[in-house]
Amino acid sequence: MSESGHNENEKIIELPVTITVREFARIINSSPIEVIKNLMSNGVIANINQQIDFDTAAIVAAEMGYEAVLEKQETDIEGELGEIPLWRRLISDEPPDLLENRPPVVTILGHVDHGKTTLLDAIRKTNVAGGEAGGITQHIAAYQIEHNNNVITFLDTPGHAAFTAMRARGAQGADIVVLVVAADDGVMPQTREAAAHAVAARAPIVVALNKIDKSNAEPDRVKQQLAEINLVPDEWDGDTIVVPISAKLETGLDDLLEAILLVAENMEIQANPKGSIFGTVIDAKRDRAKGVMTTLLVQNGSLEVGEIVIAGEAFGRIKAMFDHHSRRINKAVPSQPVSVMGINKVPVAGDLFQTIENERKARSLVVERREEKKLIAKASASTLSLEQLFDRFQAGEVRELRLIIKADVQGSLEPIISSLNDMSEGDLNVKILHAETGSISESDVMLATASKAIVIGFNVEADEAARRMAETEKVSIRSYDIIYRLTEDIEKALKGLLEPEEIEVVIGKAEVRAVFRISRVGNIAGCRVIEGEIRRNSNVRVIRDNKIIHEGPLLSLKRHSEDVHEVRAGYECGIGIKDFNEIEEGDILEGYIIEIAEPAEL
Ligand code: GDP
Repeated sequence: MSESGHNENEKIIELPVTITVREFARIINSSPIEVIKNLMSNGVIANINQQIDFDTAAIVAAEMGYEAVLEKQETDIEGELGEIPLWRRLISDEPPDLLENRPPVVTILGHVDHGKTTLLDAIRKTNVAGGEAGGITQHIAAYQIEHNNNVITFLDTPGHAAFTAMRARGAQGADIVVLVVAADDGVMPQTREAAAHAVAARAPIVVALNKIDKSNAEPDRVKQQLAEINLVPDEWDGDTIVVPISAKLETGLDDLLEAILLVAENMEIQANPKGSIFGTVIDAKRDRAKGVMTTLLVQNGSLEVGEIVIAGEAFGRIKAMFDHHSRRINKAVPSQPVSVMGINKVPVAGDLFQTIENERKARSLVVERREEKKLIAKASASTLSLEQLFDRFQAGEVRELRLIIKADVQGSLEPIISSLNDMSEGDLNVKILHAETGSISESDVMLATASKAIVIGFNVEADEAARRMAETEKVSIRSYDIIYRLTEDIEKALKGLLEPEEIEVVIGKAEVRAVFRISRVGNIAGCRVIEGEIRRNSNVRVIRDNKIIHEGPLLSLKRHSEDVHEVRAGYECGIGIKDFNEIEEGDILEGYIIEIAEPAEL
């Protein structure tokens, strides 16, 4: 890199309109703690997971020697999109010419009992390359299959209600989501929730219309329901491939795999197999004989035995590595799930893992991460409120108010939804991402985090786990028991956004001491500023005998025939007033500016 001028370009970084402290620290090659300290010294209290706006980030970036420019908006961004998963961002940092295609990673989501487990098992049974005979007894968190010479990686995400948060994580790690919908039951609450998670994780959806063998299957009705949640089937000219299958009878599975490969072909599913080594922790458990066994999905680089990996606060040298047939392997490539031995404690599923040069570095990184955690705990006292979200609207960071609504009964949900839907105005929208009956659960909060939404409860409370998660993830939960209070709050907030209140602030007064008639320009008031200041960009009121006889902007402001921005009390100046020529000696000019008022308090 010998070209001159290259160095200055290296210091320019692109940032989005909002960014988490963690992500920002990564971009400017600094530790989150440094960034948090720097923010504090600028009067901003933020924890590692909190969003800071572009302007704030730009100030901190400048202090750390970078020039920040606003990132170009991607054209395909839709309302519900969450932040780009970290691993995707990391892959996009790899040199583009070293990227190679990798197998698509697929996760299966859907409502309970719609057939996720049956489908996962059926695909594995019929397609595992070189699969050994015998029943499927052991639970496997991830596996790869081969179909027409194409490899596909499947991730399992526990379907039990207690693990709903895991589903969001599953979607986060996947390239494509297969949404299982039972043809006899149709679109259900968890179907909608799963679809929302997929959209938040930017993973396209293929619908597996399952249980088509059942006599009470109603595929057309289900397709209609799918269309209603924005998954318009391709046969109706929509974008969503819907594949009828029976997981139980193992029919339609080839079509489903074809559909997955078709969708994958139209995406850029790539990684650098020679690049930095990282991926996602899929699952981990402590085994009596082997110690901690961790299932990792390699997403970039090639992971080898002997390497030291770190995931959250867990780390260790890989002693042995196994593929999904429990065969010992020495190396794993992108999109390959592996089970590894040697990590010192059970890492958190969903965490990013990375390799690191040596154990000493791993240890000090763990210490740093613990410090971070403490800082987060401290900063947690201030949770992100509805008001702050509204501030973000005002800053133009978010153009819509995203809501997740939980209510006690369907009867109250409907009027809430319809009155909220009527509220959108212009390009400021109220967007209901998810609405259903039942108490506020962890998965609602998870969805809110992923999509930067607020959770609204009507006659329902948040359960303990949800409350805890809301606290750490800084999600705002608001509860109401009267519908009009709820709608009133939202309306007030939106109104505040749409019509920010303008207030006049008087900044100074000047007295007219002489009037100069200048040909072609008009009359200029020779003034002395007697209070505050008069600014070139201010408006003036012309006051004569205590009556306002004109109001409007200035045309010119000069001192000693030089144009100036402002003139302070005690000084003389010449003022020209736009569209007003009748100025007289003795008039008082009151200068004022228009300021935007703070958003309405809620
Ligand atoms: P999950 O909760 O989504 O993982 O659902 P399971 O895979 O456990 O399936 C729930 C029930 O539906 C089980 O009794 C399955 O045998 C049954 N099931 C799954 N797929 C099919 C199918 O294609 N046809 C029929 N008739 N039953 C199915």
